[in-house]
Amino acid sequence: MLQNKYYLISVLTATLLAGFVATTWISYHAATQSLSQQVSDETLPLTSDNVYSEIQRDLLTPVLISSLMARDTFVRDWVIAGEDDIEAVTRYLAEIMDEYGTITAFFVSERTRRYYHPTGVLKTVSADDPGDQWYFRVRKLREPYEINIDEDTADRSRVSVFVNYRVLDYDGKLIGVTGVGLGVDSVARLIETYQRRYGRTIYFVDREGRVTLHGSDFKGAARIQDTPGLAQRALHVLTTPSVSFTYHREDGQLVYLNSRLVPEFDWYLLVEQDKIPVDGVIHTSLLVNFFLALAVSAVVLVALFLTLSRYQRRLEQMATTDHLSGASNRQVFEIVFKHISGGVRRDPRPVSVILFDLDRFKEVNDTYGHAGGDLVIRHMVRLIRQNVRDHDTVCRWGGEEFLVLLDRCPIARAVAIAENIRKAAAGDPVRFGDDRIAFTVSAGVAELRPHDTATSLVSRADTALYAAKRAGRDRVESAEGDAG
Ligand code: GH3
Ligand code: MG
Ligand code: MG
Repeated sequence: MLQNKYYLISVLTATLLAGFVATTWISYHAATQSLSQQVSDETLPLTSDNVYSEIQRDLLTPVLISSLMARDTFVRDWVIAGEDDIEAVTRYLAEIMDEYGTITAFFVSERTRRYYHPTGVLKTVSADDPGDQWYFRVRKLREPYEINIDEDTADRSRVSVFVNYRVLDYDGKLIGVTGVGLGVDSVARLIETYQRRYGRTIYFVDREGRVTLHGSDFKGAARIQDTPGLAQRALHVLTTPSVSFTYHREDGQLVYLNSRLVPEFDWYLLVEQDKIPVDGVIHTSLLVNFFLALAVSAVVLVALFLTLSRYQRRLEQMATTDHLSGASNRQVFEIVFKHISGGVRRDPRPVSVILFDLDRFKEVNDTYGHAGGDLVIRHMVRLIRQNVRDHDTVCRWGGEEFLVLLDRCPIARAVAIAENIRKAAAGDPVRFGDDRIAFTVSAGVAELRPHDTATSLVSRADTALYAAKRAGRDRVESAEGDAG
């Protein structure tokens, strides 16, 4: 029974905890799932939009400078006048470069094909020179300008971001291309500023997948086709104007990626985020959930434990106690007797029993009915209890017979106790409605002998009781041969 109780409670504890852990885990995952959905559907595209518009804005200044150069009447008049004073235009370009801090400023004439630079005429552009292809592209451009990343004609070792602006005469005819170049470094610094601002990795790749611009802490390969994890999706990126997905990096880290085509550069802007910043709210609710689950489990288990214990106690009581009188039953006597006779072997001491039987009880029943008789039985048990010690065992032996087991009690003392009880019974009629039921009781007393069993001991007490009855009732008799 006891084992069953603990087994039941452990099974229930395990079930409750498993249930709570499962629901907590599921809701935690649902929350991170929706957060990750949010990152890939909203946050990254938004960052991409922001970076895109910032790039446009930041590159607008060189576009504006180039536009001013293209509209400058000095430049146009100088070209129309025949490009005579080379010194005048190179000084002009040097002024622009100094004033706006660009790394280069240039003018290429349509008529002479001369490439003017702050240091002088660098070369004559030619349709045959692959390095000059940019000029022949811009010549035919519909838009007033383009932004292009290219080797610098003035310094071949250097890659720059160029704004190539078409210069028109007063009739709208192309007379050249002018503009400024920005160092890639300064653009990379811009990227780093964005990265810091948005807490994400930002870089550009061209149509072939080559990484063109990136911050200093960039970890990917030179081509996205060679970046582990991203390689399989590279084609997808390079053939789609805009895409969002996740991939696993070499170190197993899940990476969220958003890509979009930037038409001004003809490049893809890639925005990446490593892990989802599982925010405090989710962690807090996870903890709250968990402790709530623990608290609920604890309350349920304590309630269950108390209920089970109560039922257990009740069952035990029902199994050991006589319902009518509240006295113990025969089984209890057997158990206590076994315990005491075992104790006597180790620690010899006197043990006695008293067997009571109500006198002429049939008459009580006949006169007052069963209800009256029951009342006397209960009263009798009360009287016995009042005269023995708490640890003495009081049993209802039969219908109106009671057996009292007295540990550490010699027979003389047992007889005296029995006598007290007999006197109390005789002198204390039981109130029953308006009536008073007078009753008496007889008792037989016996003391435990070395080789006694419960049966032999009780049998001697019974014999003594019988003697008391024969001697006229309302008497206490001690077992024959027992001392006292
Ligand atoms: P004696 O003095 O020889 O003991 O006479 P007695 O009438 O008491 O005889 P006995 O002990 O043989 O009778 C027992 C009677 O007790 C018989 C039965 O009707 C009654 N009795 C037994 N159990 C109960 C009980 O639970 N309630 C009531 N009211 N009466 C009971
Ligand atoms: Mg009897
Ligand atoms: Mg009787």
